[in-house]
Amino acid sequence: MLPTSLLLTCHPQDQAECRRIIQRTLDEILRTFSNSKAYEGLIPQDLKKAIRLETLLPDEGLGFDRVLAQMVDRIFPNLLRPSSCDYMAHLHSSVLLESIAAELILTVFNQSMDSWDQSPAATEVELEVIRHLCALYGYSTSETDTAKCAGWDTAITKGSVADAVDAGASGTFTSGGTQSNLMGLLLARDWFCREKLHHDVRQHGLPDNYRRFRIYASEISHFSMEKSAHLLGLGYDAVVKVPVDACQKMDSQALQRLMRADIEAGNLPFCVVGTVGTTDYGSIDQIREISELCQRYEVWFHADAAYGSGVVMSSKYASRVAGLALADSITVDFHKMFMLPISCGVFLLKDRRHFESLVFHANYLNREEDEEEGYTNLVGTSLQTTRRFDALKVWISFQTRGKNGWSELITTSIDNAQYLYGQLSQLSDFEVVTRPEISSVVFRLNLGDDAVSNQRNKQIRRILLHQHGIVIGQTERQGRVYLKFTLLNPLITREKLDGLIALIESLK
Ligand SMILES: *Cc1c(COP(=O)(O)O)cnc(C)c1O
Repeated sequence: MLPTSLLLTCHPQDQAECRRIIQRTLDEILRTFSNSKAYEGLIPQDLKKAIRLETLLPDEGLGFDRVLAQMVDRIFPNLLRPSSCDYMAHLHSSVLLESIAAELILTVFNQSMDSWDQSPAATEVELEVIRHLCALYGYSTSETDTAKCAGWDTAITKGSVADAVDAGASGTFTSGGTQSNLMGLLLARDWFCREKLHHDVRQHGLPDNYRRFRIYASEISHFSMEKSAHLLGLGYDAVVKVPVDACQKMDSQALQRLMRADIEAGNLPFCVVGTVGTTDYGSIDQIREISELCQRYEVWFHADAAYGSGVVMSSKYASRVAGLALADSITVDFHKMFMLPISCGVFLLKDRRHFESLVFHANYLNREEDEEEGYTNLVGTSLQTTRRFDALKVWISFQTRGKNGWSELITTSIDNAQYLYGQLSQLSDFEVVTRPEISSVVFRLNLGDDAVSNQRNKQIRRILLHQHGIVIGQTERQGRVYLKFTLLNPLITREKLDGLIALIESLK
């Protein structure tokens, strides 16, 4: 016999049970936030013991209350709490309060974004959010009827990507930056094959000369470039790593030299990726210089702004990412600087017609006649089929906080990084790699000898984690170990940063 409360329905007893378990869960969650630490400090071996289960699937169910008690006992206390001001390791943020409510809403209704009949209002919300995001990042969304039905063929007869902008921009929500970058490189490759090689890669697979295809990205670009090149059948060798300058930005002259040399050698450059906020340093590649080179050599320009996309929200610092709209496609992440729950990413495309590569009509899901009758099936612009209603989180938090509220949040974290850089630069024990452009500061204790310094910096990170519940990042550059503060949390104060510097100094 089925249990009485299974799903949330119109029946009062289902609603009462739903309210009860959500309320109890929330109470226990709130109790977990009993101190300001990021992590309770357990080492992996002890954590394994705490988590070990006799069986995942007992013969008889325990009932929700006992399961909750078990979680409260073993799991909740040992979860990382990213809202802690002691957490500054990665581009991994806490979540804004209103987005917790947004997650509840989108889970309860569980819309699936692949077809209109699985997500009527949600599809329209996503379209509306994407339209406004295109405008926020400077893309034109003018959408003429001819553009709408023109399809791929008109896009290719129009010439270079740079010319084909008047169809209006579009975009899609993704699982994050990795997927958005894959989409950028995929559409770039398909455009290049059709436009330059008159080859339909979607139908026929890679052309014979695929080993000559080249993608350019800085040596500190995100590893999703290599992963994408692998997935696209081109392999890591297709990714040309361009050196960075002392500010950790792609050296545009080196980029030009490398592209020219490749062309002379008979290779086929088809895409340059500019990183707008590198994962480690937050350094921003020269958007305008890259764009000019892309136009000159007629290659696709993809901007990986997974980190830097948040900077547009700061009235003080937005100019640092000016020119993003010069890119043919942009990766935006909302689960980093924007502090929305994982997952929440966006891929923006300057000319919507390039999405044509992804359209596949299935009779059971997205019939061609649907589009003609005004039903949008978003599966046509996504790599995923079943997909979450993540757009709601952006809608709710943008509307809740407004331009001014958002500007303050982002400005505060960037200001904090400037402050930390200023303080560390004055101390002789510390060495800072570069002045931050966004909110990451990469530094190390310099004890003279490199091997000694490396050892000590690594130890300090472990001591902070297990003895102080403080989580900071670590990276490497030219054989030296560096520590990293990623200051996404606007609640971090200057006093807090001063205290951390003093603590690290005391551990030297
Ligand atoms: C984080 C990051 C990514 C990957 O994004 P995910 O959302 O983690 O998939 C890509 N590029 C850059 C520059 C990043 O910082």
